[in-house]
Amino acid sequence: MPKWKIFLWKLFHNGLATTANLSYRGLAISDKCPSCNLEPETSQHIFRFCSLATAAWQTSKLCIISNATPLVAFKDWLIAWIHYFYQQDGYNGLRLPEFVAILWAIWQGRNNKVFNGTIPDLALLRSFQDKGIQQHFTFTTNPIPRPSSLHGAPGPPGFLFAHFGSAFCEVPQLHLQVDGSWKKSSILAGIAWIADHVTTQATEGQGGCIYVESPLVAEAQACLGALIWAQARGYCQILIYTDSEVLVRSLLHQDTQPISIA
Ligand SMILES: [Zn+2]
Repeated sequence: MPKWKIFLWKLFHNGLATTANLSYRGLAISDKCPSCNLEPETSQHIFRFCSLATAAWQTSKLCIISNATPLVAFKDWLIAWIHYFYQQDGYNGLRLPEFVAILWAIWQGRNNKVFNGTIPDLALLRSFQDKGIQQHFTFTTNPIPRPSSLHGAPGPPGFLFAHFGSAFCEVPQLHLQVDGSWKKSSILAGIAWIADHVTTQATEGQGGCIYVESPLVAEAQACLGALIWAQARGYCQILIYTDSEVLVRSLLHQDTQPISIA
């Protein structure tokens, strides 16, 4: 399912909003696990070592002893199991979705605690897991068809991808993440971008304030500003990320794009 794909993608890239990740990024919150309050809430901890997770794995059909190899990094552990089930059972095997459903259930249980104050137990995790499995099989019997023009995106699964270059199809020189934020009452927008240089791995960014008439125009101006900025520095192979679906669709189908950004 798309939500499982994006969840796994975030998990693999250590992009889940765990308290350890948020604290590492400068948020003034405790990095402790909301369940046990003993260890920092890293993926390694909540999905493998926290007592409820350990019990969920051990009592599942997969009988995984999740805390058996403490020196193995979470990312390696995750990939090793996925490869194992894939090799043993093939793409349509039953253990792979079971594995993902347990990860999903642990994260749902954790979110329930953090956002609703419900203390998760094994029964609750099992109900999330069963629901996930049920949704997975409903989805696999009737998947959402995707237009072929949107295939092959290098970013997170499920994201849209538009390509304009004539020859560029290899590794980009620069990754640009842009965002625009708009305040209706003042028609003032903040635009900003972060650039990651692929060869030097250096990161830099810039931002500013502009007056625009809508959030869409703010996002488009952020993209344009970032591209002009990158071009002035001699870059021409650029991968740019935006969270505006309208903007990407507008670039794919330029004949129907809103006049405000045309
Ligand atoms: Zn814990």
